[in-house]
Amino acid sequence: MHTEVVGQFDRVAALIGLDDNVADRLRRPQKSTVVSFPFRHDNYSEVETLMGYRVQHLTTMGPTKGGIRFAPDVDLGEVAALAMMMTWKCSIVGVPFGGAKGGVRVNPIELSRAELQRVTRRYTMEIINVIGPDTDIPAPDLGTNEQVMAWLMDTYSQHVGHAVPAVVTGKPPALGGSIARREATGRGLMFLVPQAARVADLDPAGATVAIHGFGNVGRYAAVAGEQQGAKVVAVSDISGAIYNEDGLDVETVGKWVDENRFLEGYTDADFITGDEIFTLPVDILVPAAIQNVITEQNAPDIKAKIIIEGANNPTMLAADDMLRERGVFIVPDILANAGGVTVSYFEWVQDVQKYFWTENETVARLREIMTRAFDDVHSIAVNEGVDMRTAALIKGIRKVADAKLVRGIFP
Ligand code: NAD
Repeated sequence: MHTEVVGQFDRVAALIGLDDNVADRLRRPQKSTVVSFPFRHDNYSEVETLMGYRVQHLTTMGPTKGGIRFAPDVDLGEVAALAMMMTWKCSIVGVPFGGAKGGVRVNPIELSRAELQRVTRRYTMEIINVIGPDTDIPAPDLGTNEQVMAWLMDTYSQHVGHAVPAVVTGKPPALGGSIARREATGRGLMFLVPQAARVADLDPAGATVAIHGFGNVGRYAAVAGEQQGAKVVAVSDISGAIYNEDGLDVETVGKWVDENRFLEGYTDADFITGDEIFTLPVDILVPAAIQNVITEQNAPDIKAKIIIEGANNPTMLAADDMLRERGVFIVPDILANAGGVTVSYFEWVQDVQKYFWTENETVARLREIMTRAFDDVHSIAVNEGVDMRTAALIKGIRKVADAKLVRGIFP
């Protein structure tokens, strides 16, 4: 993933004639922390050594910001790539953060609640000197959730001796988490459907949607899609996918997952493989699980007219080219899933000011920022004759480069 993300940056840097010195600086993260730590399993005799990472890509414009993922294959390259993407994402939506990302190489599905808590607290202690409300603020990502953020906040607060809600976002509202943060990423990307539909000449009312992933992003994208009048016909998780061409009842599916953890066994739909979801006859495809799932192999069979990337890096570059040539309109990850960091920014502002907003205020501001970011990126795409991914990168990179140049070099 790192090669693809840096490759995209290099391509756009050359396209916009970015100063070589600035380009070279932006290619590398400013700080990378790699830790290993012991983790005791519930059966006390088994102790495993886990790898953890926190990468801060850019500290020029404010604190760094980015999620923490718990996944069995996460490594330094992946985290560094995601940290760079976070920089562009923050820049696109205009929030005053640089990008960061963290991860622990562990399979969260295999952990008990007590084990998950021990991994979280020990990892937090290992990176405690590089995070903080004014330096680097984590958030949830793949395999982590509100509860994990609450344990992180508690561990940090115990360490400094007083409660510091602003050290992390995506916390439960009881601890200073923002109302509507949980839904923010999925809802934010669905706010873009009417604009994307206009470009792709599609009627959004009754448009059919398939969503790969039914976690934080996928589930709330499904909820928002249904609320906006789209027909969500398929969703997937790690156990497989469910498909009902007449439309799924998203609330019932959500309740099923709350009670049974996985989609497998859900009755009011056909059970298909997770991979089959990509080639269903739908109008809109939302990859919202893991990276590199839209490939040269499945791209020719994708029937959707619009792809809105909820996950980070779901589309491999070769597939991206193939889909664009076929006229599929792709709303790229750094724009489409920026609703998460936008409401994370709102949460941090509320925590710092100790003044909390209503749901209506939060959602209205999210909608305004997402739809404006889409229009800005689309204008660049039209004016400069480039695709939306390139346009989003142009917008993200230009602002950061300008900030770097005016700050100058120390000493
Ligand atoms: P999550 O852990 O809440 O949900 C992940 C979903 O993907 C689950 O349904 C899970 O079963 C499924 N999944 C996991 N591994 C899989 C595999 N190997 N094959 C198929 N399906 C698999 O994670 P999330 O927070 O929804 O994040 C999903 C994606 O969205 C990630 O790429 C993440 O970086 C990105 N993202 C998340 C946020 C956020 O606010 N949470 C914001 C921006 C981007």
